[in-house]
Amino acid sequence: MLTIDNILLPSGLYIVSTPIGNLKDITVRALSVLKNCDLIACEDTRVTRKLLSSYEIKSKNLVSLHEHSPQQKLIFLIDKIKKEKSIALVSDAGTPIISDPGIQLVILAINNNIKITPIPGPSAITASLVGSGLAHDNFFFVGFLPNKKKKRINTLNKYKKIDSLLIFYENAKRIKETINDMFSIFGNRKCVIARELTKYYETFYRGDFKKFKNIKENLKGEITIIISSCENKKNKEKSDIEEDEVKKIISFTKKKLSTKNLSELLSIIYKKPKKFFYTKLIKTIR
Ligand code: SAM
Repeated sequence: MLTIDNILLPSGLYIVSTPIGNLKDITVRALSVLKNCDLIACEDTRVTRKLLSSYEIKSKNLVSLHEHSPQQKLIFLIDKIKKEKSIALVSDAGTPIISDPGIQLVILAINNNIKITPIPGPSAITASLVGSGLAHDNFFFVGFLPNKKKKRINTLNKYKKIDSLLIFYENAKRIKETINDMFSIFGNRKCVIARELTKYYETFYRGDFKKFKNIKENLKGEITIIISSCENKKNKEKSDIEEDEVKKIISFTKKKLSTKNLSELLSIIYKKPKKFFYTKLIKTIR
């Protein structure tokens, strides 16, 4: 059985992932680091204390660190590590640095030759992606869109042609506006809204922009939006082009080649079975 022992943690900076809702979603290694480190740099000390107390990790030194923390705070933390201390960096939920504070501390630590140790775990990115059911070869994480409408539209335009599934973090209050903006820029695409993952009200709303355009429901809680890539459209265009090419080849070779020979030729060109073209030629074209 794995237990959270008291160990001597080597000095350095540990980037520790914590739950995105369900407090049980934390690794044994993460708990071990939180229990044995000298100090925890966290966004909101109340949130981190709640997590620690649910695992009976007591009397820890917590220091708040957020995007507006002054440089002196970072230097203070780096000095601690240089004095052989171990520091864990956590955010309120999920993996630090991903749309969360911490990158400045990591950069400064690297510049000071300090060892960086990530302790992997939950993130809304992976949970929403795997639960979405949207097939993908690759995905692109956008994070939060800008608040201002004009900037948001410009940002969406930038991602319009990316041939990947896209993942956005969003504020529930703005969901309707965002979906409508996405629909107007991307056209209709499959879309999954992942709400309150790992929590009591966890829900996946599956559909497309058309379906969600007039979303009435006043969604509450944490929201991640996953949208399918523009790949389908591209494939369709590609196959339309192939179809045209096929027609040209057929009309050119008509009467010069038998259906069998023409099927063989097309099969070599398009790397598809002869039977595929033979059936097509018999049924439709000849
Ligand atoms: N660092 C975190 C991570 O690794 O997922 C993300 C932090 S970011 C400040 C918070 C955003 O993540 C939320 O606004 C929401 O878009 C998404 N998020 C966080 N928890 C979530 C949950 N339980 N369900 C759905 N989305 C969530």
